[in-house]
Amino acid sequence: MGPGATAEELDAVVQTVQAAGGSAFVSRGVHRTIVGLVGDVEQFESLNLKAYPGVADVVRISAPYKLVSRENHPAMSTVYVSGVPIGPDTFTLIAGPCAVESPEQTLAAAQMAKSAGAALLRGGAYKPRTSPYAFQGLGEKGLQILAEVRTEVGLPIVTEVVDAHDVDIVASYADMLQIGTRNMQNFGLLQAVGSAGKPVMLKRGMNATIEEWLMAAEYVAQRGNLDIVLCERGIRTFETATRNTLDISAVPVMHSLSHLPVVVDPSHSGGRRDLVVPLSRAAIAVGADAIIVDVHPDPGAALCDGPQALVDTDLDELAHVVRTLPQAVGRSLVLVDS
Ligand code: PEP
Ligand code: MN
Repeated sequence: MGPGATAEELDAVVQTVQAAGGSAFVSRGVHRTIVGLVGDVEQFESLNLKAYPGVADVVRISAPYKLVSRENHPAMSTVYVSGVPIGPDTFTLIAGPCAVESPEQTLAAAQMAKSAGAALLRGGAYKPRTSPYAFQGLGEKGLQILAEVRTEVGLPIVTEVVDAHDVDIVASYADMLQIGTRNMQNFGLLQAVGSAGKPVMLKRGMNATIEEWLMAAEYVAQRGNLDIVLCERGIRTFETATRNTLDISAVPVMHSLSHLPVVVDPSHSGGRRDLVVPLSRAAIAVGADAIIVDVHPDPGAALCDGPQALVDTDLDELAHVVRTLPQAVGRSLVLVDS
């Protein structure tokens, strides 16, 4: 639908498609509304939907993912997280602790993030741990800490939701919902976050192909939410020197297949502090729209992922990279003041 399309014009299209025996899935982004039609394509063509008021274009999509495909939407999308853009013209640093451990630790990490140039704060309150004996996160208490730190530091928050039952509570605090690698194909969870009314960061499954990842994004979009960013966080390979292998080619590949912004997580990819800045440079050079970086005031005492967290003395280098390299590839760093 064109930018000025009215609710009545949208409704007329949906009614017409349904009357013809098809299904119509309406997805709303900030700047546009897309109606995905599923059914008999020949019949849709005979409806001449292009002539309907409010319709900007009608395109036939051959890829199995429709709403998220670039075929559907050639212009790259910008996703806004409580006003902070992630998109093609800008570069956004997201940083914070892997896990919310205490008010003091979260505040200190948020201040580190902001001083490095972050516009968004990350931090997990619900942690998807490989071991049931490992720290599982503070749950709602962690969300409350994040909300307090958001007020204090002025950065909107990105936080993970691991279970469909928790989507409402997490969405009531979060500015952006994160789906982690282990849940990329948790289809019930994807549908629940698709209906939650908040932007979503969808991490790549550690064993997922690009197409599986896009189909997972399609689950979110099909529930009406096109405010999705994709996050490459490394995949499983034979290599053991790094925690995962950062698939740097996924960034331009995704940009060619999908209009959604792409984020790189250099912390969970390498799993090593010394690799975070080099991988960040690579991510910016290859065209990532944002990076998401773990920082911690005292990684030796961290309850989760300490070895990959940047410390105070690493921040100058990170700050320098995000202030200089994006410019060299035609982007400006998004900064938030409070
Ligand atoms: C995280 O970002 O805290 C996290 C658990 O990441 P991943 O799902 O990529 O392992
Ligand atoms: Mn982590």
